[in-house]
Amino acid sequence: METTVKVAVVGAGAAGLCALRHLTSSEHVASRHRFEVTCFEQSSRVGGTWIYTERTGSDQNGLPVHSSMYKNLRTNLPVQCMAFPDFPFKSTRPSFVTHEVVLDYLEDYASQFDLFKHIKFQTLVKWIQPVNMQSELKKLQWEVTTCDVVNKIEHQPELFDAILVCNGHYADPMIPDIPGMETYSGQVYHSHDYRVPETFSDKVVVILGAGMSGQDIVFELSPLAKWVYLSHNQRPLTSNLPENLTQKPGIKKITGSFVHFLDGSQVMTDVVLLCTGYNYKYSFLAPQCGLKVVDGRVTGLYKHLFCTKCPSLAITGVCRVILPFPLFDFQVRLFRSVLEGTCVLPSKVSMDEDTENDYRKRLEEGMPHRYAHIMDSRQFSYTNDLADMTKTSRLSPFYSQLYYMCNDLRQQDLANYKNCNFTINEAGDVVLLSAEDLY
Ligand code: FAD
Repeated sequence: METTVKVAVVGAGAAGLCALRHLTSSEHVASRHRFEVTCFEQSSRVGGTWIYTERTGSDQNGLPVHSSMYKNLRTNLPVQCMAFPDFPFKSTRPSFVTHEVVLDYLEDYASQFDLFKHIKFQTLVKWIQPVNMQSELKKLQWEVTTCDVVNKIEHQPELFDAILVCNGHYADPMIPDIPGMETYSGQVYHSHDYRVPETFSDKVVVILGAGMSGQDIVFELSPLAKWVYLSHNQRPLTSNLPENLTQKPGIKKITGSFVHFLDGSQVMTDVVLLCTGYNYKYSFLAPQCGLKVVDGRVTGLYKHLFCTKCPSLAITGVCRVILPFPLFDFQVRLFRSVLEGTCVLPSKVSMDEDTENDYRKRLEEGMPHRYAHIMDSRQFSYTNDLADMTKTSRLSPFYSQLYYMCNDLRQQDLANYKNCNFTINEAGDVVLLSAEDLY
């Protein structure tokens, strides 16, 4: 007998689309399960963070602007290893593309797999809570309350059997607590609100944070800014850097227009641009779910995915420093297998133990607490694990080859690595085609 499983997906960005693609696919003909999937998306389009907007602050419906894209952004990964494993980009030259190309790709993906009909646009998920949690007779379900963001009308709650949260985690800026920041006479921005470099023309700018955004924005701003200070506590960047750039350690305090650094130096500045990352935010999940965000760690998640207290709830994309689309693909297919019963998760105790072991190992390696979901080189054994659990093929080796090659090129020449082009040869190996302007 066929069982219908009602699934709610929160968000129609890359992860939500991937969820729809696999949960609505009829490729699993042997499955006794039919998924009835509804995706709730607060905006009017698919693509999530890839929908560039000039707006900052709130959108036309009064909701916080979701996208963190800036006008001139080109991807920091080549399209060959950005793509979902079953849906390559149409063209791979150039390999590093603009945000428009990625948005087109995601729209094509949605069309190709006929996903639009499952999406309720302009519908915000306000609250998700488990029902029948204590009952021994009734199965656990989820009550989902949504709202029409245009007319501000709350809908009647709907019941679902499973929830996949795909709300992204680059929308809620992490603002560090810097002593004296409230007294700063200059302007403070977060990279979430960074759009164009012209805003910083002739200004003395301190960029705080040398992660991917900080590194990228340095090269955008420098040609226009008077001077740029890149403040961070990592090893100094050694790549060829702009001439009007000085690296500094972290910020100690701010007084008036002066930014004081941890080495005791101070500079008079016009702007502080915080490239300090983002918070995980799941304020629509009821506390009974048992998930908490503690200093950048989402506790109570098995394999960074399943809620150990109620595993019919999962969150995609919590992992950081990854190949996002391929990783989503493996996570979503595992979620499907668990709902189908072709993969049986361990007991809650074992899942919690596995999670704690992973966390403890990271601490033993000297990682700070907030790196609990950083994957980097771990991501490939992680996706292999997920593939093995779903009994499907692993990620093709060229993904990791290209990931590491790209990391090396970035370290060697931060300014120009995006001019490289790649191809995958018949043997499945990555070939660097051209490295115009490199070094
Ligand atoms: P999102 O794209 O953020 O989508 C989440 C969706 O959920 C949104 O549409 C949002 O409107 C919706 N939503 C949120 N909350 C609710 C709610 N309560 N109710 C209804 N809907 C909701 N990745 C790469 O692979 N290559 C890159 O080069 C790259 N560059 C990046 C550059 C920047 C500046 C940023 C911010 C990210 C970059 N990424 C890059 C990472 C990118 O976030 C992922 O590739 C991916 O797009 C994340 O997809 P997602 O679906 O998890 O989240």
